[in-house]
Amino acid sequence: MNFQNTISFAKELDAQDELRNFRDQFYIPLVHGKESIYFTGNSLGLQPKTTQDYVLNELEDWASFGVEGHFHARQPWLPYHENFPRLLSPIVGANENEIVVMNQLTVNLHLLMVSFYRPTRQRYKIICEAKAFPSDQYAFESQARFHGLNPEDAVIEVSPREGEHRIRKEDILSAIHQHGNTVALVLFGGVNYYTGQLFDIKAITEAAHQAGAYAGFDLAHAAGNVELKLHDWQVDFACWCSYKYLNSGPGGVAGVYIHEKHVADPLIPRFAGWWGYKKETRFKMEKGFQPIPTAEGWQLSNAPVLSMAAHKASLDIFESAGMDRLHLKRKKLAGYLHYILQEINQQEQEHIIEVITPEVEGERGCQVSMLMLKSGRAVFESLTQQGVIADWREPNVIRVAPVPLYNTFEDIFRFGEIIQHSIQQLQA
Ligand SMILES: *Cc1c(COP(=O)(O)O)cnc(C)c1O
Repeated sequence: MNFQNTISFAKELDAQDELRNFRDQFYIPLVHGKESIYFTGNSLGLQPKTTQDYVLNELEDWASFGVEGHFHARQPWLPYHENFPRLLSPIVGANENEIVVMNQLTVNLHLLMVSFYRPTRQRYKIICEAKAFPSDQYAFESQARFHGLNPEDAVIEVSPREGEHRIRKEDILSAIHQHGNTVALVLFGGVNYYTGQLFDIKAITEAAHQAGAYAGFDLAHAAGNVELKLHDWQVDFACWCSYKYLNSGPGGVAGVYIHEKHVADPLIPRFAGWWGYKKETRFKMEKGFQPIPTAEGWQLSNAPVLSMAAHKASLDIFESAGMDRLHLKRKKLAGYLHYILQEINQQEQEHIIEVITPEVEGERGCQVSMLMLKSGRAVFESLTQQGVIADWREPNVIRVAPVPLYNTFEDIFRFGEIIQHSIQQLQA
């Protein structure tokens, strides 16, 4: 597509956008009394206007029914979590029996590692990306220690080459190959939180399986963002949070995927709780854990309904927008943002913005990470002053993520104007 750096062109794209009315379903934060340019849907997605009603309904039903709400609430609480596999299936590309919503992200990562990271003397390594999100790094490190291993030895990070920002796919695959039968688990992000690089989940999974290892992914920055086909790609397990691209509120309940071939396997160990127990006989409350033969068998506790109500409010919107349309718009928004940043770089004498996110569609999602070669912090502060809600990552990266449900092409055009102006002012 041939883009133009003009307001009329951006407005034209918005006018043609089939999803343009979805923006009205969200609260857009105001800055100085004006709608902000909200580019942090990758960090905390915006609140749908329906969320309050969904949550209030549960509070009302609790008031009306007390404990009987487990059965008589409008959305009975006992099976509340059963609403989610159908809604998440098109988002992560999995069968319904492979999905469960429970706990929070890092908790789930640990629970999945209990099942899929079982090091032996020979096979004990975890292969992961360098600069994984810190919570994941701490999870890997503490899991290795828990098994009596030295993380320096057990956790193998694949890094970008000297002078590069992204990790080359061939380097990931050759690291897996090279460590071969010492690898127990390959555990990557879907999209790296810092660079916005989308990893080749299918190829990494294949390489892990060839080495005889499991392949798992933390999809915090991928779920609700990029196309995922977890089942077809044979991914063993994955987890994600619901408050980033999935707009389900701060600290919201999280999601888990476990491949069908594992869900009914009684030999896979797990930490068990009563909510994972067979539904038919759960309330006999007997000794001896018998898991539900789906991903639900990994549940520990009864459903956190208030948080799940917020999750459902957002996923109902995803359902009506449809993932195909969301992906189309997402690609166009990201393409436009990359184009605008290139234009700015070409117009300025000095190269100030280095985009470290891959330019190529298929290797990135919504997020664009800009390494600021000069005055980064000052540019960021100027953006904030002028109503752009972006985020700053040390040492000098500004991350922005236009999302298809509520961002516009005009947002991107205006952002371009503001950042170019900020750079010029700081240089003057
Ligand atoms: C956001 C994020 C987290 C946050 O973990 P919580 O348990 O939800 O606090 C963890 N890992 C990754 C990759 C993330 O992007």
